Amino acid sequence: MTKLTAILLLLLVANAHAGQDREILYQVSTIDALLAGRYEPMAELSEVLAHGDFGLGTFEALDGELILLDGQVYQAGVDGQVRLMSPQSMTPFITLTHFDADQVLEPPPGQDLSTFQAWLESALPSRNLIYAIRVDGHFPSIRYRSVPRQAQPYPSLAEAAAEQVFFERQDIEGTLIGFWCPVFTKGVNVPGFHLHFLSADRQHGGHVLDFTLAAGRVQLDPTNGWQVQLPTAPAFLASELGEDRSQALHAIEKGELPQPAPVQ
Ligand SMILES: [Zn+2]
Repeated sequence: MTKLTAILLLLLVANAHAGQDREILYQVSTIDALLAGRYEPMAELSEVLAHGDFGLGTFEALDGELILLDGQVYQAGVDGQVRLMSPQSMTPFITLTHFDADQVLEPPPGQDLSTFQAWLESALPSRNLIYAIRVDGHFPSIRYRSVPRQAQPYPSLAEAAAEQVFFERQDIEGTLIGFWCPVFTKGVNVPGFHLHFLSADRQHGGHVLDFTLAAGRVQLDPTNGWQVQLPTAPAFLASELGEDRSQALHAIEKGELPQPAPVQ
């Protein structure tokens, strides 16, 4: 049996056992709306959490990084604190799923973010599915960031990223929580990897920029459904979302500041 056949079989079995809705990536709003500065409340977490127990995103007003792990929502703030958030909190953008580990992999020791990404991408059964990725491990070093709460009128994410705060920790146990999405999800979600981090003691976390991974366990959940909840909030409806924002996204994901667009 090929790797691909095996994974399709897993998906079929998972769907039959758990009901179709467990193999769906659910998201509120689009990454391009977030890039355009749409940090208004688009959904309450209590409504969203019916769609999953594992995911990432941000909070109303871009108030820190959102981490959803084992059904608990955490906020990783720019003050370096991690807080457990109430289901009444509001989000402008969140991506989540019900995490069912269909495949477990052991990463070669000593990888950094880029070697980890290359290794895991080569292990994916297909580049045309979405994967939820959970990595529990020991990190000799990890670098991550958070973003500060913004005030109205909201700046673009590229402008807000100028105020991002970087953190670095050594010798820490924790979990990477994230997704790999195909290229064709561009504009709606983040093509490639998007990973957040939460320490095992739930005291540290943020959007991952780099790490070294001494040892760990990678769990993959391939997902063949994708449900996008488009907001009906006036701010979303009135936004201009036709622009290609992939360059800005690429820079922001890596913690860099986007280059200003050339003057026409
Ligand atoms: Zn992030």
